[in-house]
Amino acid sequence: MQKTEKKENQELFQDRNTQILISKFLNSEIQSLEPIFDPQTGYRYPLVEAIVGDRSQAESFLTKLYAAGILERKLFDKIVSCPECTSTNVTFRYCCPFCKSYDIQKSSLVEHVKCGYMDLEGNFKQGNKYVCPKCHEEMRKLDTDYRKAGVWCACKECGKNFDIPVSEHYCRDCHATSTFEEASIKDVYSYTLAESVKNEYSTNWLLISPIKDFLLQEGLTVESPAFLKGKSGANHSFDIVAREKGNEDLQKTIVIDLATSKEGVVAEQPVIALFAKIFDVTPRKAFLVAIPRLSENGKKMAELYKIQTIEAKDQKEAVDTLRERFNK
Ligand SMILES: [Zn+2]
Ligand SMILES: [Zn+2]
Ligand SMILES: [Zn+2]
Repeated sequence: MQKTEKKENQELFQDRNTQILISKFLNSEIQSLEPIFDPQTGYRYPLVEAIVGDRSQAESFLTKLYAAGILERKLFDKIVSCPECTSTNVTFRYCCPFCKSYDIQKSSLVEHVKCGYMDLEGNFKQGNKYVCPKCHEEMRKLDTDYRKAGVWCACKECGKNFDIPVSEHYCRDCHATSTFEEASIKDVYSYTLAESVKNEYSTNWLLISPIKDFLLQEGLTVESPAFLKGKSGANHSFDIVAREKGNEDLQKTIVIDLATSKEGVVAEQPVIALFAKIFDVTPRKAFLVAIPRLSENGKKMAELYKIQTIEAKDQKEAVDTLRERFNK
């Protein structure tokens, strides 16, 4: 599959559903996303259905994330569906190669090693003993007294014998039978988060967890990532949103964004981005955690926009400063 364009990827990363799924991988709620088999409807990803809110969208959502390189996938199973009614409630039948009946009896061919007599397994049985019908000697040990010489099938319909049956699919819903040629066979995958995405996100993730824990200790309800609908009707994503339990009032919420810089100074862009969001959402408090430092220009703007900034070299310092500032 072709990798989609970079811009599309960016949009995908900012998508609420994508972020929720990624966060479930990062907090180990999901290690590997495996489908669950439902005999009525085939394989499903209930966790993804819950995120996208629509069963029919779950698979295309995953395929999109795979194409964008956000998820990696592995073949999990192949699913056969009925060409008549598309049901996946399909089973295999082994049939007589002569008359195609599935009413066949499978048994083993057994050979008495000592006298060389060979017959169907059932003909050696006397009660719970094995006795050779030719020389009437009891056979006790497999591979010493007797050995299995292969499979033997008898058709109860036409009476013919054969060793290799032919197979067909049988639909338990519409009762149609189909051959291998007619059947539709689809790949089913399990998914994991791509290493590159894991690395990119985990720096932020390492920071978010201790901050979240602190807010929870403060008795707040915490969501991360979180989405708030502003006055304009648009949804805005924040790294962390905390609120008093049961209080949905936007003006009582606390929003926190994180910004890290490998170069040592976080520029003003995250301040501007956070301002645009809080202008619409109007939370009680907005924090920007800058690791390790925020540029002078960024600080000035933050002050102007009433964004509280926290500069910290690591997560411990970030939580300590947040604690100091929090109840002011
Ligand atoms: Zn069918
Ligand atoms: Zn037959
Ligand atoms: Zn014998």
